[in-house]
Amino acid sequence: MSINAKPYCADLYQRVIKRNANEPEFHQAVKEVLESLIPVLEKHPDYIELGIMESIVEPERQIIFRVPWVDDAGSVHVNRGFRVQFNSAIGPYKGGLRFHPSVYIGIIKFLGFEQVFKNSLTGLPIGGAKGGADFDPKGKSDMEIMRFCQSFMTELYRHIGHDMDVPAGDIGVGAREIGYLFGQYKKIKNAYEAGVLTGKGLSYGGSLTRKEATGYGLIYFVNEMMKARGLSIEGKNVLISGSGNVAIYALEKVRQYGGRVVAVSDSGGYIHDPCGIQVSTLKQIKEVNRQRIFEYVKYHPTATYHEGCSGIWTIPCDIALPCATQNEIDEKSANMLVANGCKVVGEGANMPTDLAGTKVFLDNGVLFGPAKAANAGGVATSALEMSQNSMRLAWTFEEVDARLKDIMVNIYKNTSQAAEAYGLKDNLVAGANIAGFKKVAETMKAHGVV
Ligand code: NDP
Repeated sequence: MSINAKPYCADLYQRVIKRNANEPEFHQAVKEVLESLIPVLEKHPDYIELGIMESIVEPERQIIFRVPWVDDAGSVHVNRGFRVQFNSAIGPYKGGLRFHPSVYIGIIKFLGFEQVFKNSLTGLPIGGAKGGADFDPKGKSDMEIMRFCQSFMTELYRHIGHDMDVPAGDIGVGAREIGYLFGQYKKIKNAYEAGVLTGKGLSYGGSLTRKEATGYGLIYFVNEMMKARGLSIEGKNVLISGSGNVAIYALEKVRQYGGRVVAVSDSGGYIHDPCGIQVSTLKQIKEVNRQRIFEYVKYHPTATYHEGCSGIWTIPCDIALPCATQNEIDEKSANMLVANGCKVVGEGANMPTDLAGTKVFLDNGVLFGPAKAANAGGVATSALEMSQNSMRLAWTFEEVDARLKDIMVNIYKNTSQAAEAYGLKDNLVAGANIAGFKKVAETMKAHGVV
């Protein structure tokens, strides 16, 4: 059978749109991957003939459930919970939970789809999934968060397990939420299955370096990407969007490499401090006090606060690290960054640059580290947490950090080599999609039509 890969991918993409109507984020993620895979499919028509391509864009299982809970005033609320188990070819499903009012099936599906390739890139045996709820944790008391997490887990527990599906954190889900989720799982199952969730507290099976892993991993990746061009982070001005888990630890590592982070943001606005943002103040405001980013200017008079989060991309910089959410850099912001001298972009968030923005960076020779590769350090360290749980022992911070660094260096190597092998040198977007895809596709082939 002879199949022309380009029209095949265009047709498959149309079928994905039809079958998953009104899910633009999922369409966008699929489009990028299918376009990158055309040269691979030209060499491997068997991936088309064996139905691998149709299977890879269709989740193995999608679960949608009701999450009722009672607030402190006694009022009942009903949210919607999701778990999309996308692909388990190379290992148990693995991927975070997001609690944010914008969550709907299309967001969870795009995140689950990307997770398949990202997890493959880590070199560890983990499949791809994602979950969450349209619940807004902002302004909720600890007790409200706890009741919500307990209700969420009362349904989710049936679908997860340390050899089946292992959720973790994402936007709105950190150590506090993972603790409540784990407590409820343990109670319902009457079993101490530490490996069922990752991102746990250290006293009940968590791994040192997990909290830091996505941010640190991002900087290890960016450092590797720059080193290959004879560049370094030292002395560079850096913008980081967001001020959550990924942003805080990216900032910490940039400073360790001698760079200066001049701005961070939240969904309300951004702070700019040409003298450099202090990580200790940021941790106090965001991790301890759970306050908004504008509080920062009370501690540092050289800093200014500006309403509106996208304005951060108008500040001149050498390196931009989007670490907040999807589609935060569009074509206009990308053009602005390039015009202002930005030479390097590392995606800490998932799909933070839209397709037009990505094109601007690639066309202008910006070193561009795509999310699937650049932010894979979080899930890689989650897999290291699972290993420690299975062995019932705990590695030191230095041991986990060294493994994380090795993994990120390898991801960079594999991604750049895959791009080069298909005549797309320096296009790490294509390289990450190709390297992540091939391992999963070969495994699916080995498993037969299942
Ligand atoms: P957090 O909840 O800790 O922080 C999220 C940050 O992004 C906050 O500053 C938040 O601001 C901001 N943000 C969220 N939504 C929006 C929005 N719609 N517009 C503008 N700003 C927004 O999440 P994480 O740091 O864990 O996650 C950040 C990104 O990194 C996400 O894309 C996530 O999928 C990705 N990621 C996370 C990993 C992890 O290990 N945690 C692993 C790999 C990827 P505000 O407080 O105002 O909402």
